[in-house]
Amino acid sequence: SMEMDEKNESRILVFVRLRPMSKKEKEVGSRCCVKIVNKKDVYLTEFGNENDYLRLKRLKGRHFTFDASFPDSSAQCEVYTTTTAELVEAVLQGRNGSVFCYGATGAGKTYTMLGTIDNPGVMVLAIKDLFAKIRQRSFDGNHVVHLSYLEVYNETVRDLLSPGRPLVLREDKQGIAAAGLTQYRAYSTDEVMALLQRGNQNRTTEPTRANETSSRSHAILQVVVEYRVKDASMNVINRVGKLSLIDLAGSERALATDQRTLRSLEGANINRSLLALSSCINALVEHKKHIPYRNSKLTQLLKDSLGGACNTVMIANISPSNVSFGETQNTLHWADRAKEI
Ligand code: ADP
Ligand code: MG
Repeated sequence: SMEMDEKNESRILVFVRLRPMSKKEKEVGSRCCVKIVNKKDVYLTEFGNENDYLRLKRLKGRHFTFDASFPDSSAQCEVYTTTTAELVEAVLQGRNGSVFCYGATGAGKTYTMLGTIDNPGVMVLAIKDLFAKIRQRSFDGNHVVHLSYLEVYNETVRDLLSPGRPLVLREDKQGIAAAGLTQYRAYSTDEVMALLQRGNQNRTTEPTRANETSSRSHAILQVVVEYRVKDASMNVINRVGKLSLIDLAGSERALATDQRTLRSLEGANINRSLLALSSCINALVEHKKHIPYRNSKLTQLLKDSLGGACNTVMIANISPSNVSFGETQNTLHWADRAKEI
């Protein structure tokens, strides 16, 4: 980045999004165990007595507060505007950023990130907003937007826009990049939703769960904005910003908020990239000098977008059903910890 006055500190903004109760959950007689109050406070009850939140406020581990919390009635655009719009603005200034959706399988990560044709999610709304902002500035230099969409599955990196052989990560002077990854030059929003939907269908599915995108696959959309302008003395100024939007693998088997739990999980062939992300976040929380980016493909790919002078946003997705109480509690604990950065 070229800005001299920008703050060189990292901070993570942490949000929670509650999804509506599904038909299936209703059918099995689920009760709602989460209550969101004042767009910030989250109260968790084990047996669905969600109105007893004054008592819950006094119980440790049952009351959380975040930068914002979205009740199940929240619209996609509200989630986008509150969590990600500022990062899109920052990318135009040449600052990198990343947005993660985190949570158990079925908690609403893909809905939040990709969404549906009728209700597009953060990825699509971010690109739409980006093009709108670029149009407003078109008098002033030339912006070029490139998209790449990739998957990390079982420590293998694949191109979701042109599926084929696994990609090798290479380190060059600009950082770590996947060799041969498609850089799709985007001109408008219209083409993007179809492109991303198709890419999402290329995600690896687990053999035992046909027709279901894998709970172990991370999908990463990277949006690179390059800006070129000539200054008064006709020198070319080149500014590049990168926004990474990440639909993480299901967190149900890899939740750890301390180093010891992390180490015991590492032996168990649990999602290495998710554990490594947890480790990096922990190291950032503890203001460690060494951040262990090299431990996984995901963290290598995100090295230039996490920590340092980057903007980072976490959206923790949760289900309202008391059947998912344990997973919801783990997700909220993890999100609560990330908040300390
Ligand atoms: P994940 O990606 O975390 O495994 P999904 O995003 O696939 O979960 O969500 C599971 C199901 O719940 C999907 O059918 C999805 O359409 C639905 N869903 C998730 N979040 C919402 C929401 N906020 N509003 C309406 N439906 C949702
Ligand atoms: Mg998903």
